Amino acid sequence: MRVAIAGGGLAGLACAKYLVDAGHQPIIFESRDVLGGLVAAWKDEDGDWYETGLHAFFGAYPNMLQLLKELGIEDHLQWKEHALIFNQPEKPGTYSYFKVPDILAPFHVLVSILRNNDMLTWEQKFRFALGLWPGVVRGQKYVEAMDKYSLLEWLELQGIDKRVNSDIFIAASKALTFINPEDVSATIPLTAINRFLQERYGSKIAFLDGSPNERLCQPMVDYITERGGQVFTENRSKKLSSTPTTASNIS
Ligand SMILES: Cc1cc2nc3c(=O)[nH]c(=O)nc-3n(C[C@H](O)[C@H](O)[C@H](O)COP(=O)(O)OP(=O)(O)OC[C@H]3O[C@@H](n4cnc5c(N)ncnc54)[C@H](O)[C@@H]3O)c2cc1C
Repeated sequence: MRVAIAGGGLAGLACAKYLVDAGHQPIIFESRDVLGGLVAAWKDEDGDWYETGLHAFFGAYPNMLQLLKELGIEDHLQWKEHALIFNQPEKPGTYSYFKVPDILAPFHVLVSILRNNDMLTWEQKFRFALGLWPGVVRGQKYVEAMDKYSLLEWLELQGIDKRVNSDIFIAASKALTFINPEDVSATIPLTAINRFLQERYGSKIAFLDGSPNERLCQPMVDYITERGGQVFTENRSKKLSSTPTTASNIS
């Protein structure tokens, strides 16, 4: 079957990859002159790449990691030390580490919180670790029930003070959701935090070893086209028709 896909971002490319695996012929129409959508990158006149945004790949991304494996490019990821690192606003140029030890989940993350002495007092460490415990026990059900609170409200319920919010959670919330703690539902960051708690390497971070175009998108394009799919850039889909398809129904 021939399948038209509007958009050559990661979703469109991944969709085409699995369609060729299933024996179909996908055709990707990407409106821009570059693939990748929100992970797209460009070369400047000196030959240096600049990216839409730096992309972190977490251990808690099973589908993405499986996709890279199936493409044979899992070695394009460079895994960093298992730690979350924060700037310390009151001590410019110094960093505070939440180093995650290689022990069983969820104790690995809880130990990383208890060991951090730069940003959390002992009282706050215990309060935060205790606050995370219902998520460990009740899982996603608890996380979804927290939708009635913003992240800031949820932190206040745990007794986390304003300084910790401004030093840690504004950065964490914006990195995960692009939204401030007072505006984002607690469910969104807690979903990520709970995955990090439940999975031994869930919060481990990797970065691509080069530009996303060359190290991620191009191998996907090669895989798709070698198996009968097609990829067109500068082709904006303007209309989708639900009548039985011929290529002429796509414009
Ligand atoms: C600054 C930044 C940092 C990020 N960091 C991370 C991170 O660290 N980790 C992480 O997991 N995620 C991160 N993300 C999110 C991640 O980039 C996106 O979730 C993901 O790339 C979305 O892929 P997509 O294919 O669904 O959508 P998109 O990337 O938006 O792709 C959609 C594509 O469709 C094309 N298109 C739209 N309309 C048409 C049309 N009519 N015809 C043809 N083509 C069309 C667009 O041009 C685009 O190429 C980040 C995003 C940004 C912006």
